[in-house]
Amino acid sequence: MIYLVEDEANIRELVVYTLQNTGFEARGFASGDAFRKALSERMPDLVLLDIMLPGEDGLGILKQLRASDRTAKLPVMMLTAKGTEYDKVLGLDSGADDYLPKPFGMMELVARIKSLLRRAGPSAGAPEEYSTDGLFVSVPRHIVTVDGAEVSLTRKEFDLLAFLLKNAGLVMTRDRILSAVWEYDFEGETRTVDTHILTLRGKLGPCGGLIRTVRGLGYKIGEFK
Ligand code: CA
Repeated sequence: MIYLVEDEANIRELVVYTLQNTGFEARGFASGDAFRKALSERMPDLVLLDIMLPGEDGLGILKQLRASDRTAKLPVMMLTAKGTEYDKVLGLDSGADDYLPKPFGMMELVARIKSLLRRAGPSAGAPEEYSTDGLFVSVPRHIVTVDGAEVSLTRKEFDLLAFLLKNAGLVMTRDRILSAVWEYDFEGETRTVDTHILTLRGKLGPCGGLIRTVRGLGYKIGEFK
């Protein structure tokens, strides 16, 4: 998922449209407030930030992202009409991972996004698809199939499955799953995880067994690519 903060509606729509047609999930926001609200609900893999915004500017938003543990490492690319060296230095010094001066072509934008996601590591974004032993999951297309038949999952079940797949081969504790999928840390709420694992296994039928319980620790899903 890529978030874009851009006040110019035509650029915003063009970028979101392009990204969605390139296999990314993308959402655009006209202001920092709308962006922050979405951020509290779902973490993106990368953020595109316009610098010149009415009210709070992109650099102010970036500073806040870097100041919070949750978003400190989020890949951020600054977009700006002011193509001077000064802006470039300012953008990078403030913690931006990349900088793209306007006007930019959509091909270049997509190439730079892919490059930044690669540098950010496998846990950050890019279209993800997994298939193994009859199970197929496409994160960007939000599709799960078992032996070719589509399985309908709730949003949390899907996020839970995607999180385990993203961390394939690693044991995820209930606490870690809770904070990643439900995005809160709640002592004693870990039964929520168990309940969802149970229904998820049921819905996955013959593939349910791929989600393994690691006694006393949590859950893991086998390793694949
Ligand atoms: Ca602007």
